[in-house]
Amino acid sequence: MFADLHIHTDYSDGIHTPESIIKKSLEANFTKIAITDHDIFLGNIEASKIVKERDYNLEIIPGVEFSSFMKGKEIHIIGLFIDFNNLHISRLVDELQSKRKDTVKTIINHLNKQKIKISYDEVLSLAKGSIGRPHIAHVLINHGYASSVNEAFDRFISSEILGKIREPRLGIKEAIEVIKSAGGISIYAHPNINNKTFFNDLHELKTMGLNGIEVSSPRYGLSRQKELLEISKKLKLINSGGSDFHGFHKGIEIDSNNGINQKEYEKLLRALK
Ligand SMILES: [Zn+2]
Repeated sequence: MFADLHIHTDYSDGIHTPESIIKKSLEANFTKIAITDHDIFLGNIEASKIVKERDYNLEIIPGVEFSSFMKGKEIHIIGLFIDFNNLHISRLVDELQSKRKDTVKTIINHLNKQKIKISYDEVLSLAKGSIGRPHIAHVLINHGYASSVNEAFDRFISSEILGKIREPRLGIKEAIEVIKSAGGISIYAHPNINNKTFFNDLHELKTMGLNGIEVSSPRYGLSRQKELLEISKKLKLINSGGSDFHGFHKGIEIDSNNGINQKEYEKLLRALK
């Protein structure tokens, strides 16, 4: 493949540094990758600096991933080719970062009330960028309340347990519009095709300005990809794809099976104009 357009670093919920992501991408022979950390640009900025300094043949496409909701359903929107200096998006990212801190404080209060003694400062010290529940999970493990991230989530901090306490989400329209205002294109990440209203929702998203959908992803097989390609063609959307690599999901790697080819990438560029 030519480009992997969905990768996370340890500035959000991935476990690898930008440097290690670059190494993996070069080994997989990619010449374009997008770092799409949640609500933060720092991983991109660091990666671009490394590539420039070492003169690597790898372009870092400025990206981001926002959690948003549409009719009560959670939808992840990726922005690609973002101008990080755009005031509208940089203010929004600052706001999301501070909301994330508030959410973590609320969760810790909630845990403290159950006599689980962990502190905000400890959680904060583990977060390099976007703070969130994975960092709380690690502190729970360090204190012996859980033996793995999965167990920490299942026992203490799953969405089911926490109900309305959660990391900030944007309205779907706001997510699409802010990406556009920062010069980027918006992609519906790992779309939930099983939803009965999927086609109609996607049509609605397109009228809001959505540019494309993630057609190829290691999260689903070839038959799902084929279905998504057909839908995307029908709605005249563009196709994106990537690994959604975090570093800890079995079978999900930065490798030549994941991403999009050069022809698809060029189509994506045309949508920018
Ligand atoms: Zn992602």
